[in-house]
Amino acid sequence: MTNINEATVSEEELLAEGYRKYAGQTIDIFYNKDMCEHVGNCVRGNAEVFEVGRRPWILPDNGPSEHVSEVINTCPTGALKFIRKDR
Ligand code: SF4
Repeated sequence: MTNINEATVSEEELLAEGYRKYAGQTIDIFYNKDMCEHVGNCVRGNAEVFEVGRRPWILPDNGPSEHVSEVINTCPTGALKFIRKDR
């Protein structure tokens, strides 16, 4: 699978674009609520990492980064981006 939602810009640029950072040990996840269309692929993909009713709603360390990045790649809007820190 191509890493369509792997960040191609720096963390600083993501934050400037309106993404919020959810830091993990091996992967950082970035979420832009204005781009989210609530399709729900993220929650269906891994409900331990993405849990809408929780604060924070994203916990990057609740799943292996390889799987988490695959789930993020199913986000059709680009509202989720990731930066892997383990490779
Ligand atoms: S998969 Fe993307 S667009 Fe869908 S709910 Fe999750 S963040 Fe929003």
